[in-house]
Amino acid sequence: MNHAAPVYLDYAATTPVDERVLEAMLPYFKEAFGNPSSIHTYGQRAEAAVEAAREQVAAVLNCRPDEVIFTSCGSESDNLALRGAAFAAQQMRGARHLLVSPVEHHAVSHTAVQLERLHGFDVEWLPVDEFGRVDPDEVACRLRPDTALVSVIYANNEIGTINPLAEIGALCRQAGVLLHSDAVQAAAYLPLDVQALQVDLMALGAHKFYGPKGVGVLYVRKDTRLLPAQTGGGQEFGLRAGTSNVPYIVGLAEALRIAADERQKCTAHVQPLRDHLINGVMETVPMARLTGHPQDRLPNHASFVFHGVDGNALLTMLDAAGFAVSSGSACKTGSPEPSEVLLALGLEPQWALGSLRVTLGSGSTPAHVNSLLAALPQLVHQARQLAAG
Ligand SMILES: *Cc1c(COP(=O)(O)O)cnc(C)c1O
Repeated sequence: MNHAAPVYLDYAATTPVDERVLEAMLPYFKEAFGNPSSIHTYGQRAEAAVEAAREQVAAVLNCRPDEVIFTSCGSESDNLALRGAAFAAQQMRGARHLLVSPVEHHAVSHTAVQLERLHGFDVEWLPVDEFGRVDPDEVACRLRPDTALVSVIYANNEIGTINPLAEIGALCRQAGVLLHSDAVQAAAYLPLDVQALQVDLMALGAHKFYGPKGVGVLYVRKDTRLLPAQTGGGQEFGLRAGTSNVPYIVGLAEALRIAADERQKCTAHVQPLRDHLINGVMETVPMARLTGHPQDRLPNHASFVFHGVDGNALLTMLDAAGFAVSSGSACKTGSPEPSEVLLALGLEPQWALGSLRVTLGSGSTPAHVNSLLAALPQLVHQARQLAAG
């Protein structure tokens, strides 16, 4: 048994808060604790902090500050985008069609399913290739006059594949159809210029880029009609009522600024480690496959399937051996069902059930990767024998 702190290799699940982010947040828990909606000096100081954060986020997204909506998390941003755009389009012009990729996070896919089951929307699932990528032409040929929204994830959380978002955005723009993208996983490593990407809505969550949990952003292009998900006070331009979480908003903005400033440095740190990890696993573990795109994938993301292995059993064994890794999605822990994303790639259940995701970050070292590579072949072998009974 390894009694040292486990090696953390699950940065796609969450990241630790950057020290600089924490420092930026602290005053807003203490002396600068005001409610930004208050008229007095305390309120003014808090409001100034929220508006400065909004400008900081807008600078990274290359948009106007009044297009930045602060929310409680990436999931809420996805929910507001889908439900908000769907209901507004239904109300304004009777639009009922939603075009959604089959490799979305549950925050999008479960929202789409609810819109279909409870609210009469017609959800059409896009095809993807064996790497989980959406072909822009497959989007274009499915756009309809009554399409309320297209939703395509920027970079997938389970398999790391990056979608050709700008191309999809150009086609949606041409047809006058709204495009939402879940960029929660992408934000740490990929460019987020919403003009270049041509998205109308885009979701971010701070805890995936070294900010705090419990705060997110929804980018909403000017003149995009959304029905507010939360009604009450007029915060966030009437789209999201509730007293602003000032310290977390400040933290998100600082974390995003750092992510944008240090993107190249962070990529240069993780990418060689990722490549070494992928090559090592493919060389040493029999009956293993890389999932997701071999090149067009997040630079910190390695994901595999092992034939005839129970992924959750493997995770438990890896944890006991001192490695904190994932089967793909933190939201699916304990579920014996194969992941919908892996099934969408065309993988059979005997493969899809044996998934492993290793995601690197600021604290990852060559020694971490090498020790995982040293332990993994034997553990996969044991898990395979266990599954075979
Ligand atoms: C983590 C994640 C979410 C959810 O974000 P929260 O801030 O945890 O609600 C949504 N989409 C993707 C792709 C994610 O990785």
